[in-house]
Amino acid sequence: MKLIFEKSVEGRHCASLPKNDVPEFELGDELRRSHPPRLPEVSENELSRHYTSLERRSFGVNSGFFPLGSCTMKYNPKVNEDIAKLEGFTEIHPLAPVNSVSGCIEVLELLKKLLLEITGMDNLTLQPSAGAQGELTGIMMIKKYHQSRNDNRDKIIIPDSAHGTNPATASMCGMKTINIPSNSEGRVDISRLKEVAGEDTAGLMLTNPNTLGVFEKDVLEITDIIHKSGGLNYFDGANLNAIMGVVRPGDMGFDCVHLNLHKTFSTPHGGGGPGSGVLACKEVLSEFLPYPNFFNTSDFYKTEDIPEKSIGRISGFYGNFLVYLKALCYILSLGKTSIPLSAKTAVLNSNYFKNLLSKKYNIPFPNDCMHEFVISMKDEAKNKGVTANHIAKMLIDRNIHPPTVYFPLIVKEALMIEPAETEAKELLDEVAEIFLEIYDIAMNDPEMAKAAPINTEISQPDEVLAARKPVLNFYDEENVDV
Ligand SMILES: *Cc1c(COP(=O)(O)O)cnc(C)c1O
Repeated sequence: MKLIFEKSVEGRHCASLPKNDVPEFELGDELRRSHPPRLPEVSENELSRHYTSLERRSFGVNSGFFPLGSCTMKYNPKVNEDIAKLEGFTEIHPLAPVNSVSGCIEVLELLKKLLLEITGMDNLTLQPSAGAQGELTGIMMIKKYHQSRNDNRDKIIIPDSAHGTNPATASMCGMKTINIPSNSEGRVDISRLKEVAGEDTAGLMLTNPNTLGVFEKDVLEITDIIHKSGGLNYFDGANLNAIMGVVRPGDMGFDCVHLNLHKTFSTPHGGGGPGSGVLACKEVLSEFLPYPNFFNTSDFYKTEDIPEKSIGRISGFYGNFLVYLKALCYILSLGKTSIPLSAKTAVLNSNYFKNLLSKKYNIPFPNDCMHEFVISMKDEAKNKGVTANHIAKMLIDRNIHPPTVYFPLIVKEALMIEPAETEAKELLDEVAEIFLEIYDIAMNDPEMAKAAPINTEISQPDEVLAARKPVLNFYDEENVDV
């Protein structure tokens, strides 16, 4: 496909402006560009076609079922976008004096208040721009907490079912990670946890439900073991879909939690941002939060002085403000009754879908799941050479986005499926039929599975090569004559 710059024809344009009816004014040379900006010159028709065809090349929640486990590709109500488009929010400047943007800061403060209620925490920063950055913020705060007590604990305990960002975060903070295995039910092995928790334990990173979609029912005992050893508990709340409004990290013994507003709280994602990984904490960690924070004088907001023990700034200005607006709009439009209903529906959909697929697929942890569940293609790979990847590619041919593949790492040939609460029963029935049909095709004719996808522009790119040596076509300003 051609770049929009390659479609450009000199003199062609989209806009016809009315005749100038005010006196012309010549800018001085020092204010003028030395040459005109290099912008593509195309007609409105060409412009519209260009972006429409780009849009058609990508798959989103508006294109079809998107059960990408751990990513929560739920449908995001359009009203959130309408609110985030209002000029009063989009036309502000991040350097505007705080007292001139009090309305926007009120948005932040209201969102904070609601998220504190949802998480059961005492204090919160909205700043981190992604889940992984929320983790970084939390673990830096835990580190600083121990340092402030002259305690040089440096081990973070992480179950083997954790999201990959957890050990990465701990290492980035200079901590050593201790991996603990899951037991046969897919839960934390408590006896192993007791063995490793001790005087050098800085903390635990856990997500509940874990990435197998299994709820850690012994969570109070788990967090208690860590507290008794002198460590703190971190909750990876990237995906709060199964529990929001039903159970709170703050009530499960956790000292801090990050939330991905771009997963549970309804900001479209998948293209790399913008996102938000807000970090909430209990009082013990409050003084280490990043700044700026705000306080309300009777009629407008002011920034607080830089707190002495703060870990510092985590992102520029206020973070991704429009993402906060969408989250606030989402929370307010659902309200107190529909927030738990949404979580329960996510769990119901996932269990319903799991039961339909279990007619043919192997589900290694078959008991009730939370918002997601994991299939293993281990036996089929061994017996027929049909892998998780083959099933994923066959789904692409049927306009279904593949589930997450080869994660979590503890399940061989994993397909991790998260239907989300926004899908109707009819769609789940329809898609389950397709999953079952694909299974039969693949078992009867493995070669057909291995040839998929056949309906896409390219079939099977070398994924490693594509990531390491991408062939890009781009507009290179340096090498263009202007
Ligand atoms: C998505 C996810 C993360 C990382 O969030 P990003 O915004 O992609 O950095 C961390 N933990 C879990 C459990 C997740 O699902």
